[in-house]
Amino acid sequence: MFKLYLDPGHGGSDTGATGNGMQEKNLTLDISLRIRDILENEYENVQVRMSRTTDTTRSLNERTDDANNWGADYFLSIHVNGFDGTAQGYEDYIHSSLSDTSQTARYRDIMHEEITRVNDLVNRGKKKANFHVLRETRMSALLTENGFIDHPEDAEKLRDPNWRQTVAQGHVNGLARAFNLQRKDPIYRVIVDGTQEGAYREQQNILNAVQRNLGSASRIVVEKV
Ligand SMILES: [Zn+2]
Repeated sequence: MFKLYLDPGHGGSDTGATGNGMQEKNLTLDISLRIRDILENEYENVQVRMSRTTDTTRSLNERTDDANNWGADYFLSIHVNGFDGTAQGYEDYIHSSLSDTSQTARYRDIMHEEITRVNDLVNRGKKKANFHVLRETRMSALLTENGFIDHPEDAEKLRDPNWRQTVAQGHVNGLARAFNLQRKDPIYRVIVDGTQEGAYREQQNILNAVQRNLGSASRIVVEKV
């Protein structure tokens, strides 16, 4: 079982960066929920715990204590950057004490590669910092900064739900590669004379549904979801 602690940056009274009519706390939550949903729907043996699933205030200590007490395998903190309106792009952080050959750095190399493959942002590189969530977590931890909210080009992307889904998918692709996650078997719909009879993952259940209707139906469709 892979236990991911997912931390949407900021929340509640802490908006994080703001710009172009958006607040960082809402974007980090949206991207994080998308990451959780993809992982839970498409991968097996994954548990996701989040520091928040709504717009609530959480201190940094609460976040790292929760992850440590839960015994997470990996801590992933999602952020959006802000500066003076001229900076743009993606960067990510591991703790400043770690070497480039540490396990955490190796995980980060994979995450960085998969996220920057799809996010269509300027790549500002792999960085290190003494951030609380990187320092106080007992497990490997990564913090990603997904574009600048106050830069016009990045803001246009951040506003687009399809882009946020792509960014979430990039994070999931990195996690899947770094932690060797296995995909769930696909789901198949069984449609009998135009009406969905059921949706099944197990091959035997698909065959049973077909067999139940074979005598009476004029058309049975088995369709991969
Ligand atoms: Zn932030």
